[in-house]
Amino acid sequence: MNIHEYQAKELMLKYGVATPPGQVASTAEEAEQIARTLQGAEIVVKAQIHAGGRGKGTFTDGFKGGVKIGKTPAEIREYAANMLNNTLVTAQTGAAGRLVKKVLVVEARDIKRELYFAIVMDRASSAPVIIASQRGGMDIEAVAHDNPEDLFHENVHPLLGLQDYQARRIAKLLGLEGKLLADGAKLFKNLYRCFIESDCSQVEINPLVVTSDDKVMALDAKFNFDDNALYRHPDIMAWRDTEEEDPREVEASKYSLNYIGLDGNIACLVNGAGLAMATMDIIQYAGGKPANFLDVGGGASKEQVTAAFKIILSDKNVKGILVNIFGGIMDCNIIATGIVEAARETGLSIPLVVRLEGNNVEVGKKTLAESGLALITGTDILDAAQKIVAEVKKFA
Ligand code: ADP
Ligand code: MG
Repeated sequence: MNIHEYQAKELMLKYGVATPPGQVASTAEEAEQIARTLQGAEIVVKAQIHAGGRGKGTFTDGFKGGVKIGKTPAEIREYAANMLNNTLVTAQTGAAGRLVKKVLVVEARDIKRELYFAIVMDRASSAPVIIASQRGGMDIEAVAHDNPEDLFHENVHPLLGLQDYQARRIAKLLGLEGKLLADGAKLFKNLYRCFIESDCSQVEINPLVVTSDDKVMALDAKFNFDDNALYRHPDIMAWRDTEEEDPREVEASKYSLNYIGLDGNIACLVNGAGLAMATMDIIQYAGGKPANFLDVGGGASKEQVTAAFKIILSDKNVKGILVNIFGGIMDCNIIATGIVEAARETGLSIPLVVRLEGNNVEVGKKTLAESGLALITGTDILDAAQKIVAEVKKFA
């Protein structure tokens, strides 16, 4: 799960990570009001969406920049009016962009240096790793691509946590000296504590800045949380913004289905994550493109299967469905009953290939055969994949 920048600021403040004062607004009037309460010569308005690259983004109506600096409350109101209810396209949103419903109004800081600091989970060490660079700001992806030597890595021991010497070493590599080195090291340790205690999978501060009055602080923050640990953090879960998520995935999460939307046109309904991955691979191998990853799990109920089928059918890009079930724990007839029920409710009008194998398979096949649904049977995974790809091509 992701959160917005204004929420990330609240979390960072709890952990003593410095960030300039500001508040979130839903209307231009509110933005102007907040600007009046803030200090300093300049105020920044920032579009709140779950994507970065806002500074260099463009709104679909031509307005440029999702991060704007203004001097007067009236100017802030103007910027907010331009951003709110407008769609922002950035390097990270895709061409469709994201609708801006809130803006953060925040005090500007006079920036001396822009640095990069992130904590992510490292697959190689199965533990957190810190990535930092002196070249923070808006193009860290380009730095990582063209000059990977400009990024420093510091592995953290999962039980010992971030040690003082490590925090100081990172600060030093970032070119911080004297009081700034001590302040930076403290900020890193606080942020690391926040990362661990909040069950984050990623925290990215870009930019981390040194101000002209020699303070280190976070001017932007991206937080990502481990979904499987969210039950431990009701306060963070309350920040979930489902409007920023794929509506198919939001619906799937209501039924505890493991669903990830993709951009192909062959939907798959599978039990078990491994089989789901294999099914996606074999669809590609047969010359097709999967529309989703969907694992209904080992003990799916008829309701879950019906919901899964409806989610698949609500996707306008889906031109065919492949059901691939191996009934080890799962009873094949539960899947069959769910399919029949969902197909009746939704009026299935696209090709459906079913491959059922395992527990109670005969009864399952009978349920399907007696349903009157125009489905095609696959004898094994490859046969099923080839059949659905061929069917979808007929209508292409
Ligand atoms: P994004 O990464 O989505 O483009 P950022 O929050 O990183 O958005 O803002 C882009 C740039 O705008 C930053 O690199 C920084 O130079 C500037 N900026 C952002 N917040 C402030 C602020 N409070 N004061 C001064 N400059 C800011
Ligand atoms: Mg940024």
